[in-house]
Amino acid sequence: MKKLVKVASPAAIAVLRQATAIAPKRHKASDGLLPSAAHIKQNPNSDHNSGLAVDLTHDPHSGIDCREIFEQLKSDKRVDYLIFNSRIWSARNGERDYTGPNRHEKHLHISIKAECSKDTSPWFAWMGKPSIGSKVKAKFKKKAVKKDVPSPKGD
Ligand SMILES: [Zn+2]
Repeated sequence: MKKLVKVASPAAIAVLRQATAIAPKRHKASDGLLPSAAHIKQNPNSDHNSGLAVDLTHDPHSGIDCREIFEQLKSDKRVDYLIFNSRIWSARNGERDYTGPNRHEKHLHISIKAECSKDTSPWFAWMGKPSIGSKVKAKFKKKAVKKDVPSPKGD
């Protein structure tokens, strides 16, 4: 059994936060970070137990199309493996049928490599919309510009 953690990894949390920033009205019914007690019993080796996995609700009407995200995230170096709609993909084994008890039709499961647990850079960069990360940067830039303006005191 994998070690249980109480807090999900920053990289996993960033997936849900950034998705909400892109699609504020998206459905979240199948979102998930940490496992429930029942989930631990059913799947003691799940990456959710170590905070390195995230479930993202499939809601194509709001712009969170997990079919597209599944394809796009294959090129994200942080991804260990992906599961959606009875398909599983990993960098090591490529894409194949997924025959586990949960077909993952309502959510995309993303497992993140342990060494990338703190990497919160944009997960949906191809969507070309502001992520949490870029918003913070923009704010920071604005402040920096202000600082360069000489104050009336001349210091
Ligand atoms: Zn999952």
